[in-house]
This record gives sequence, C-alpha cells and structure tokens, in this order.
Amino acid sequence: MHRLKKGQVAYFDYAATTPTDPRVLEAMLPYFGPDGVFGNPSSVQHGFGTAAAEAVEIARKRIALVAGVKPSEVIWTSGATEANNLALRGVLGSEAKKPRKLITVATEHLSILDTAKALRKEGFALEVLPVRRNGLIDLDRLETLVRSTKSLVSVMWVNNETGVIQPIDKIASICRAAGAIIHVDAAQAMGKTSINIKKIPVDLMSLSAHKVYGPKGVGALVVRRGITLKPLASGGAQERGIRPGTLPTPLIAGMGKAFEISAKEDNKQVKQIDAWHKHTSKFINELDDAKLNGDSKNKVPHILNASFGGISTSLLSSLPKLALSNSSACTTQKTTASHVLMAMGLSKFQALNSLRISFGRFTTDDQVNQMIAEIGNIVSNIRRAKKTGLD
Ligand code: PMP
Repeated sequence: MHRLKKGQVAYFDYAATTPTDPRVLEAMLPYFGPDGVFGNPSSVQHGFGTAAAEAVEIARKRIALVAGVKPSEVIWTSGATEANNLALRGVLGSEAKKPRKLITVATEHLSILDTAKALRKEGFALEVLPVRRNGLIDLDRLETLVRSTKSLVSVMWVNNETGVIQPIDKIASICRAAGAIIHVDAAQAMGKTSINIKKIPVDLMSLSAHKVYGPKGVGALVVRRGITLKPLASGGAQERGIRPGTLPTPLIAGMGKAFEISAKEDNKQVKQIDAWHKHTSKFINELDDAKLNGDSKNKVPHILNASFGGISTSLLSSLPKLALSNSSACTTQKTTASHVLMAMGLSKFQALNSLRISFGRFTTDDQVNQMIAEIGNIVSNIRRAKKTGLD
C-alpha cells in the first residue's frame, strides 16, 4: 500500500487528487453510524432530518463565503465532472433565453470537451478556441467569437496539467459585454488562487472537494441568480429541482470543512510551494534538452509540467519511486498523449515524454530533493544508454 511516509513512494500528484485532511475526516465522522447525525437532510419532519439539513446549510455557507456568492447559489453535485456536465447541458437545454452556441478551449478537462462534442452531435454549434504555446487563449479572438451569436462560454481557471491561469476577470467581462453566459471550471483553482467571484461577472462555476483535501465524490456548481438550468436527472426536489437525489451529508460536511481550512491556510503555504517550484524549475532548465511547459508568469506554482527530449522509453515507468503523471488522471487510462500539451504545440512524442509534478500540503523538502535526484539520474541514464546503443 502506498502511503505518504518517508522512504516510500513520494507523492507528487496532488493535481490528480489530495489525501483527505485528518481534520476534514474528523468533521465527517459525526454524520455516520446509528448514534450520528444520519438522517436524510430532506426529512424535515423530524430532528434526524433537520440536524442533517443544518449541517448541509453550514457547509453551503462555507462554500459560498469562499466563492463570494450567496448560499442559495451553491448546488451540490458529485464532483466537478458532474458540475461541468450540468453547466453545459443545463444551460443549453434550458427553456429560457437559450444560447445555441458553445465556445470552449482546447485545453479544457475532458468532462467539458467530451460533453461539448456530444452537444455538437445533438445540434449545437461548437467552437473550440486554440491556445498559444504558453497555454493562454487569445482574448481578441474570443471577443470576436462571442459577438456573433448568443453563446455559452466555458473556460478552465487553472489548468490541471500545466497550472496555467486564464485571465478569468477579463474573459468574464468580455462575455458579459457581449451578452454571453460564462461558466468557469475552478476545480484546480481552489486552494491555489482566489476563486472569489463577487466582483467578477461569472455565471456558473464548478468546484470539487477532493482537489483541496476534502473527500472524493462531492463537488458543487455555483449558479448565479437569473441563470436557468435544465436538470440532468429527474426524480426529486432537492437543490431546487436542479440536482435531485439524497444529499450525502458526510461528504458535504467534509467539503465545507475542506474549503474552510483551504481558505484559511493554503495561501500561507504558497511561499513554500513557490520555493519548491523554483528549485525544480531551475533543475529542469539546467538539464540538456528539457523544457518547462506553460506560461512562466500566469501560473500557479503547485503544478509544474516539463518535457524531456531524447528519451524513447516511458519516463514515468522508469520512476517507480515517484507518484507523478504525464496527463490528467481522467485521461491516463488511455495511452493517448496529453491533449493539453498537444494543443500547446507539442508533438505526440514530446507530450508522451512529459511529466506533471504537483506539490501540496504534505510535500516535504526531502521528497522534493528525492524527486529531483531521481529524475536527474533516470534522464541521464536513459540518454547515456541510448548513446551507447543499449536503449
Ligand atoms: N476539472 C478539472 C480542471 C479537473 O482537474 C478535474 C479533476 N481531474 C475535474 C474537472 C473533474 O473533477 P472530479 O474529479 O471532481 O469529477
């Protein structure tokens, strides 16, 4: 079993998921077991239900506070995948002021891109914006596109593979001025940069608990007032009928606690994470034929992505003592190269020989040093072997 312990596999895949913070786990436990607050939050006829409903509303307030929205604008989901699906299908399928066109970006998560492709098959117009080599979109191109028809625009705030931050404030203003609806996937932004949209005209925002030391299987979609959505499922009045189904009280309480802790503490760790990012970047920049992917300024330090030239074996499988990835966890079951890196102009070969290194709350200096030493050794061993024909 792989644990976050010294001497074992070092975890550098915080962008895929984070371990549940022990304080979050503690906050979830009172909602299990016969002596716990196990009631159905919709059973408001008795105390078992009202106690659970109270916990759900406390968590909703915590998410709303961090996002800078009203608690009534937070809709619970099973995660960001469902929130992304609900945003796209919900807006395009709603009766009121229906947009006919969806505009998104080539570097989005597959829960956006695959849903967008399915919607195109269902008859909606789709425009997938390219990105520049640094991973950023061209705002002028977006501005021209949104002017043509009433559109739904969906853009990821912080990219899960490169850490690149899209300028959501500018994007949202462009969309608002053109009368377009804007959805933001903030699954990776939470805990890494501010997701407060009080002063940013974002209409919908997807969130996930397990990227910020909360439990897996819970997330939320922020739906600002005035936005109408067609639900993905039918069969219940929960969440204003937008997302029917019994609410998972323990998971929701955990997400509330995780967001509360993250909002208080994660900005204090940024300096430390930035130092690890700088240290690792310097090592990569000094290596022959290696390069960092993604804009160097508009990015979070928690995620670092690098390509290594002159390597024909899989780098990842040569590094058994490091838990790293070379694309999103949702894509790695396939043997395809990262669509994000290829959208940034990398070849399939370069994308396959790239590594995503992500730092988090339980990373240590020793682990960072171990990671740098192991990558350095493996890269030079593989290259040496190749030169002497042993590869
Ligand atoms: N969007 C982004 C940017 C992500 O990184 C992820 C998780 N890989 C998701 C959406 C999906 O989130 P979840 O696992 O909560 O469904």
